[in-house]
Amino acid sequence: MQKVLEEALAIGRKHIARGECASYIPELARADKNNLGVCVLTKSVDRYTAGDTKTRFTIQSISKVISLAIALQHCGYDKVFDKMNMEPSGDAFNSLLKLDMASDKPFNPMINAGALATIGYLVPDLTFEDMLEYTRRVCMDKGIVMDEKVFQSEMANCARNRAIGYLLQSKGILESDVEKTLELYTRMCSLSVTAESLACFGLVLANGGRHPETGVRLMDAEAVRIVKTIMMTCGMYDGSGEFAVRVGIPSKSGVGGGILAVVEKRMGIGIYGPALDEKGNSIAGQNMLEYLSKSLNLHMFASEL
Ligand code: GLU
Repeated sequence: MQKVLEEALAIGRKHIARGECASYIPELARADKNNLGVCVLTKSVDRYTAGDTKTRFTIQSISKVISLAIALQHCGYDKVFDKMNMEPSGDAFNSLLKLDMASDKPFNPMINAGALATIGYLVPDLTFEDMLEYTRRVCMDKGIVMDEKVFQSEMANCARNRAIGYLLQSKGILESDVEKTLELYTRMCSLSVTAESLACFGLVLANGGRHPETGVRLMDAEAVRIVKTIMMTCGMYDGSGEFAVRVGIPSKSGVGGGILAVVEKRMGIGIYGPALDEKGNSIAGQNMLEYLSKSLNLHMFASEL
């Protein structure tokens, strides 16, 4: 396993030059695009790491998985999907286009419109501290804090998300205060994780929501099933279809450069590589996952056992 991870890292490095750090949130542009790390945590809780797996970076869109899981457990399936669909959008994560034209509902909870709607359900009852505490538990990482600089930087540059929030309000989808919803959403995006914390979260999901060592349930089985399915169909922005064919592992990326990947009943994988492709996915990260999938036979529809 260690050898395969080192090989994956070498492959990933070759792709970094073609990507760029996200710059629409100015603070994210300050990341070193040459950072790259991968962590695999197996079912038996053996941890394998290569590269920058302890470097902290902001979770960004991967927090949408956590918010969705919290909402499903807190409000239930019917409420969460009453005003939201679960279909890939085929558009950029921050697009307003189809929300106003083709559909009355956000396409899915992994794009900004859906995540803001999801957070809207939580605003009246849960605090940021509640959500931070839950994130620390499922990532098995007490070191997670909010990155104040990234938070401020995004709040100063969130016109699109604010527009989405008010559009959702105008359609009666977002009933909570738009500004409070936007703030909680942005705080969640600004949580600082590592490739290792993402691998831990991945293993909890791979393990049906139970802590891999204690067996304590951290997430309802039904919520786990739903978030993994939506990660598979919608987790890699408008690159989700091709990623599913090439890699075949339910994953969620964030513009901070993280990827969370869940190999059912086998392992959690966490990746950090802030050089992104034009769709917002870690360019080296995707190539590393493709290599791991092939080398370790991880594709969910692998042709050979
Ligand atoms: N905070 C980012 C935004 O709302 C998250 C985007 C992402 O990682 O896809 O634009």
